[in-house]
Amino acid sequence: MVSHLFYQTGSKRPVLAEARGIYMWDVEGRRYLDGSSGAMVCNIGHSNPNVLAAMRRQMEKSTFGYRLHFETEPSEHLAAKVAAHAPAGLEKVFFVSGGSEAVESAIKIARQYATVTGQEKRWKVISRLPSYHGCTLGALALTGYAPLTEPFAPMYRDMPKIPAPTAYLDGMDPADPATGLHYANMLEEKILAEGPESVLAFIVEPVGGASTGALVPPSGYMERIRDICTQYGLLLIYDEVMTGGGRTGRFFATDHWNARPDIITFSKGFAAGYSPLGAMIVDEPIVDAVIKSGGFLHGFTYAGNPLACSAGVAVLEEIQRQDMVANATAMGTLLKARLTSLMDRYPFIGDVRGEGLLLAFELVADRGTMEPLPRDMNAYLRLVDIAYANGLIIYSRRTRNGLAGDHFLVCPPLIITKEQIDQIMEMLVLSLDQFAK
Ligand code: PMP
Repeated sequence: MVSHLFYQTGSKRPVLAEARGIYMWDVEGRRYLDGSSGAMVCNIGHSNPNVLAAMRRQMEKSTFGYRLHFETEPSEHLAAKVAAHAPAGLEKVFFVSGGSEAVESAIKIARQYATVTGQEKRWKVISRLPSYHGCTLGALALTGYAPLTEPFAPMYRDMPKIPAPTAYLDGMDPADPATGLHYANMLEEKILAEGPESVLAFIVEPVGGASTGALVPPSGYMERIRDICTQYGLLLIYDEVMTGGGRTGRFFATDHWNARPDIITFSKGFAAGYSPLGAMIVDEPIVDAVIKSGGFLHGFTYAGNPLACSAGVAVLEEIQRQDMVANATAMGTLLKARLTSLMDRYPFIGDVRGEGLLLAFELVADRGTMEPLPRDMNAYLRLVDIAYANGLIIYSRRTRNGLAGDHFLVCPPLIITKEQIDQIMEMLVLSLDQFAK
């Protein structure tokens, strides 16, 4: 058979037939519980009838209007809704078709802003190691994940990185504000080492996604990061491609802290698997300066198309109607407690972490030292395959910059119920028992 999956590794997957709510069925009729919402994207569940109806209605009217020729009702409506969820002042919404495009756009508007405000020397964007910001070359330069970046060097210019705050590996207490300061101050050190006049921005996943396995910042970290960016004139970019839209129990993860960013990137939370869609949300003075200088010199053909935007509007309405952000907090608390209880049964679970329904556990050889499992064991692939065979989909990566460590994201759609959490736990225990044999 001719395959379009030439980039895939790992086991062959079955062919998808249909999906509804938190379940998916293959063409042979086998059912899977979508315990990772795809790649933490199908937040409102599959085949939501209200979203499908809204898209059908829009399809009958128009599916495309080029952004330089027309405003459209869905794009205007969606921009207003997105801005209403963002922190005060972040009111300018620029649509794109996915997460990497949102990150590219954020880097470019930051750079153009620097250019038009007499700060031409600022071009470096500091990010973290590990991190994931997308697979296009600009976003890849910010991504701290060697297996994804190294094959393409030197096609892109690698940007400066600081370590992500892995308190759980370093024997530090994440609730102690000294821990937050310890890691945040690494940003200041990096800025000083690079030369503050050359640094444009700092980009961070507020709660880590796939690359770190739901790493939550230690106490005081985000506030100190904000202060450092302000002090040295850096723009602070929150990459909320995965966290935005309620996943962490707040609409945007930024709402967890008193540390407002200058730019937010957003995608999975309102695309939700219904249509390619993304956005950056930008502080007004930045946009004003760029517009005054002649406009933002950037844009993608499909950006803001009415069909994608009609899906986005309907997704946001469903999140509100079903109070999914509150459910992410309630069910996230329950699921995290259930995952944590697995540590009594399986000594090889080294850590359980996350916020809301962005949750992960990490497997180790030794919980005392947090020594990873042997690399050639490929635990991150093996456990996923076992779970898959048991009808549970989870998402895994190697942590620690892709060199060692195996973590597993358990991030079901935000509509999950208690009974469905029981189902996840049953299949997970079965899978971990089989893995342990
Ligand atoms: N940033 C973050 C934080 C992400 O999690 C992702 C996707 N996993 C991206 C950017 C890239 O998004 P996309 O795959 O839609 O380009």
